[in-house]
Amino acid sequence: MMRRPYLAANWKMHKTVAEAKAFVAEFLPLVDGVEDRDVVLCPSYLALRAVVQGTEGGAVRVAAQNMAAEPEGAFTGEVSAAMLLEAGVDAVILGHSERRALYAETDEELARKVPAALEAGLEPILCVGETEPEREADATEAVLLRQVSTGLSAVADERLAEVVVAYEPVWAIGTGITASADQAREAIEFIRAVVSGRSRDAAAEIRIIYGGSVKPENAAELLVEEGIDGALVGGASLDPEAFAKIVEAA
Ligand code: PEP
Repeated sequence: MMRRPYLAANWKMHKTVAEAKAFVAEFLPLVDGVEDRDVVLCPSYLALRAVVQGTEGGAVRVAAQNMAAEPEGAFTGEVSAAMLLEAGVDAVILGHSERRALYAETDEELARKVPAALEAGLEPILCVGETEPEREADATEAVLLRQVSTGLSAVADERLAEVVVAYEPVWAIGTGITASADQAREAIEFIRAVVSGRSRDAAAEIRIIYGGSVKPENAAELLVEEGIDGALVGGASLDPEAFAKIVEAA
């Protein structure tokens, strides 16, 4: 099964609208003609419109970094799926470890957000991954099992393959420490086996990508691994040339 490579740039709380526009102007010529993979930019909410406009008509896609599960209501500071769609966004990162750790996002909330995104027509990028103490306590598989099975629990089997799962070991995010290709492959194989428990067809089709200190220097080594379908990139995606090199390595 050939799965289309998926490369996403998580800018987190970086780049003003002006900086996002400057990135797009520099980045697009570097990935011109790259049409055999998904290239997705994930700016802050405020820069979404500018990036959608700047990439219009091309192959580069735009995703948000979070979304509320509810369609509307008294949820101060939150943004709904309909608002993202209206801005021209077609995907959304859900359950990033920073949201889990700093904003107490739970698997149960993600079990509502993931199907809400799909029902609205947004592609969910569900982030999962163990912390360092969890890996040291040999709890990696238990954590991944809980996060993946709960996060996908309300998604119908026929729609599982529409989700992108990002395996992001927390100890590798923003630390400069990358999981070894073996560690990433093993965890991703485990996640695929969990999905296979729901649907073998979906397990063959679903994209499972790696995130955690991916840089141009280590991208090829990770992305050549069987089963690693792409990367979610934080720090290195802030630089157009570095992210373009990662896209090329896929
Ligand atoms: C991330 O935040 O999703 C991430 C992978 O960050 P970094 O590449 O900086 O480790």
